[in-house]
Amino acid sequence: MKTDIEIAQAAELWPINKVAATVGITETELEPYGYDKAKIVLDEAKATSTKLGKLILVTSINPTVAGEGKSTVTVGLADALAKIGQKAMVALREPSMGPVMGMKGGATGGGMAQVVPMADINLHFTGDFHALTSAHNTLAAVIDNSLQQGNPLNLDPRRIIWKRALDVNDRALRHITIGLGGPTSGVPREDGFDITVASELMAILTLAHDLMDLKARIKRIVIGYNYDKEPVTVADLGVAGALTVMLKDAIKPNLVQTLAHTPVLIHGGPFANIAQGTNSIKATKTALQLADYVVTEAGFGADLGGEKFLDFKVPLLGKTPDTIVIVATVRALKLNGGADKNSLKNEDLPALEKGLANLGQHLRSMARYGVPVVVAINRFTTDTDAELASIEHYVVEHGHAAYPVTVWADGGAGAENLAQALVETTQQAHVFNPLYDFSEPALDKLNKIVQEIYGGAGVELSSKAEQQLRTYAKLGWDRLPIIMAKTQYSLSDDAKLLGAPRDFKIHIREFVPKLGAGFLVALTGTILTMPGLPKHPAALDIDIDEHGVITGLS
Ligand code: ADP
Repeated sequence: MKTDIEIAQAAELWPINKVAATVGITETELEPYGYDKAKIVLDEAKATSTKLGKLILVTSINPTVAGEGKSTVTVGLADALAKIGQKAMVALREPSMGPVMGMKGGATGGGMAQVVPMADINLHFTGDFHALTSAHNTLAAVIDNSLQQGNPLNLDPRRIIWKRALDVNDRALRHITIGLGGPTSGVPREDGFDITVASELMAILTLAHDLMDLKARIKRIVIGYNYDKEPVTVADLGVAGALTVMLKDAIKPNLVQTLAHTPVLIHGGPFANIAQGTNSIKATKTALQLADYVVTEAGFGADLGGEKFLDFKVPLLGKTPDTIVIVATVRALKLNGGADKNSLKNEDLPALEKGLANLGQHLRSMARYGVPVVVAINRFTTDTDAELASIEHYVVEHGHAAYPVTVWADGGAGAENLAQALVETTQQAHVFNPLYDFSEPALDKLNKIVQEIYGGAGVELSSKAEQQLRTYAKLGWDRLPIIMAKTQYSLSDDAKLLGAPRDFKIHIREFVPKLGAGFLVALTGTILTMPGLPKHPAALDIDIDEHGVITGLS
């Protein structure tokens, strides 16, 4: 089998207007970025249409470090729906260059189930992330300039929470000192960098319904506190207009295609731990207005991206998924059942059977929302028939259906059974059962997430977190929805506790209010908002030759 980048570079792409035409996007709605990429702005009638297609949410069990193929299955499934004659689209996040050059690789699927042009999408694409990084750092510069110019907002330099941002995994920038060099070079203070995808601006861009909503949300961002410990916002600084101007094109969804020419909207890339972890509301909505079936993905496992999609994105989107697909792999189940990470290619039924408890917890937690749930077993060549049969048996015993898919090897043809099943399940009437109401006290919301989604006992707050909740109750911030920042490897906050642990507590270290995005981040364990590079970063293996042929990108 060729590598992902070899397959992607050999692909024959359609011109983007031809892809657009398959879902009725007209030339006037298209802003081409070269031959095979475009931004789209639907005309008024389409953009306000309330006739929406069916929404299929793809999530997964707790993964291995390599990822379990959520993007691959999402892409392959849309191709499969198209193959059986349905009008389908994909809505995905934009990849972050930090992980592309680091450990995780890109986010355009794999094998024969990919989105192209793969290298462009994984690198600079249509420039959205650069626009965002620039807007983020412009705000940081304006804050420091305000300190320099007599500090009219009485800002406490020790309590500024708006950091700098960069789309690079660079641990050396987590904690820095700025403003050195004497009075003409600023006010010295401690600062730090977050990766661009952890920026609140990224969360906001993906939540905003339109430019005015974007501006209103930007105004509400709390950038720090004054000497009276009162919050200071972007509105106080007066730069919401300028920042919105910098994002005027980034707010438009990007259109590309799968290897089989199924239209794909790739837009926005908020982290699934520090933010909501799914593509923009605007892109999902647009796809639903254009296609009969939209397949979308939520980052990390069902405990992180899945929960956030259902509890946070759904109310804003105004549309619940019509079916949830949980992606499981033999290798991740074996890992969850205690198998050594270096022997996941060998048949190991005892470990697999033990690890199935992890899938069981995700099945329970997703089914509680009232939406039909099915399992897609993303088949690897090393999986044995006995291992697949064991998963199918477990899933059926627990009242759901499982479909082995081979989209990585076969493209859309590898998920036709699943696609046929989804045409039926998405027709089933369902009553959405939300986990919590935004207006419930923060502690109640937290305990519901831990007990009903993670299978744990509840939360334990640090004294700092307790103090914060007391302050937030006075400010009314405790009524915001919760975004849990937790490891993706375990249902608990301990990455090494695999399978389906019970009776554990989730330890909340501190909260980070994101007033522009409109949520409260609960930091657990040692979640970092600026990743580092691994011992052998992917960047060491990436190259380009004199013909422009790229190797090593995955
Ligand atoms: P996720 O979205 O869960 O992070 P991806 O879809 O990005 O996972 O896949 C991660 C990597 O695994 C990609 O490089 C992809 O090519 C590879 N991959 C996915 N499914 C398979 C499969 N069935 N067989 C072999 N490799 C696969």
